[in-house]
Amino acid sequence: MVPIQMVDLKRQYTKIKPQVDAAIQEVLESAAFINGGAVQKFAEELQQYLDIKHVIPCANGTDALQIAMMALDLQPGDEVITPSFTFIATAEVIALLQLKPVFVDVDPQTYCLDVTAVEKAITPKTKAIVPVHLYGHVADMEPLMAVAAKHNLYVIEDNAQAIGGNYTFADGSVKKAGTIGHIGCTSFFPSKNLGCYGDGGALFTNDDALAAKIRMVANHGQSARYYHDVVGVNSRLDSVQAAVLRIKLPLLDEYINARRAVADAYDAAFADMPQITTPYRAANSYHVFHQYTLQLNGADRNKLQEYLATQQVPAMIYYPVPAHRQRMFEHFGGAAFDLPVTDHLTTKVISLPIHTEMDKDQLDHIIHSVKSFLNNPPA
Ligand SMILES: *Cc1c(COP(=O)(O)O)cnc(C)c1O
Repeated sequence: MVPIQMVDLKRQYTKIKPQVDAAIQEVLESAAFINGGAVQKFAEELQQYLDIKHVIPCANGTDALQIAMMALDLQPGDEVITPSFTFIATAEVIALLQLKPVFVDVDPQTYCLDVTAVEKAITPKTKAIVPVHLYGHVADMEPLMAVAAKHNLYVIEDNAQAIGGNYTFADGSVKKAGTIGHIGCTSFFPSKNLGCYGDGGALFTNDDALAAKIRMVANHGQSARYYHDVVGVNSRLDSVQAAVLRIKLPLLDEYINARRAVADAYDAAFADMPQITTPYRAANSYHVFHQYTLQLNGADRNKLQEYLATQQVPAMIYYPVPAHRQRMFEHFGGAAFDLPVTDHLTTKVISLPIHTEMDKDQLDHIIHSVKSFLNNPPA
């Protein structure tokens, strides 16, 4: 059996090696390493895939979130509502810009922002909401956008884990994750569903003025060459990464299907296990399974993880400490936030390997290992 990894990027690369190598070679020969043709072409292709007016590439997903908040002119002290149950980047950039992160609990089934809790957390200082489509499940965007409209707030979608996912509205219309809020942000970190071979990220918007502002902020606040209107940052996707992404974007739906097939197999295998809650899939969210994360009930998570390691099965805890309990946020009184669902989930979740290259014998081995531990727990 091929060794099991959380994400098998090596075998994925092997399958597309001739195309990727040729695309990288082309960039090398053009020597247009920054803002080369590949970057513009990739942005256009992603724009079409997402059915959105503007895609602005940048250096990574964290920068995308920061640039979004800068482009919206959020000011020190403004409050930004976000989940605590997320990767730290979401909350970190809020604090970095001297905005105030207001942590809100997540829905116990979807693990995404609880919209009722969002509305309760709104104050006169609230300026924006940042939903996170955690693990690839799209947050409940329709009621969230309604709350945002009612209170005149911006919505920035953290779509780092859900590119290619989509959301179905009550009227039956469907939109891609990341294209519903005012700005969508994503990451092309190698292990993400659409990953490059280094760092990369992008912002999406349908708003022309906002797109212009985002481009300016991402490029030293520059409006015309060497004329700088606002304080910005330097955040670019390089041409080599764009060339890799141009090969992988046409395969994204296939990659998502491969991930969903792994999730289906896990779901079926664990359906009769009382100690396991398998990932929920809301009817309006097309889940792209960046992670396959289950909840363990009445079983020792660390012992399971240790046992799986002895069987050469990796497993990860995303995330063991929620943002509001990180030392980084102590001075914001982070721990004072009352987020029972988040606190509960951080003690119960465990993620199993899921990727585009999983073989049946690997899957069978993972399932067998999980089941044998739970059926015969060590004393
Ligand atoms: C990966 C990730 C980010 C940050 O992306 P980088 O490209 O690593 O900066 C932000 N938010 C979430 C939810 C992520 O998973």
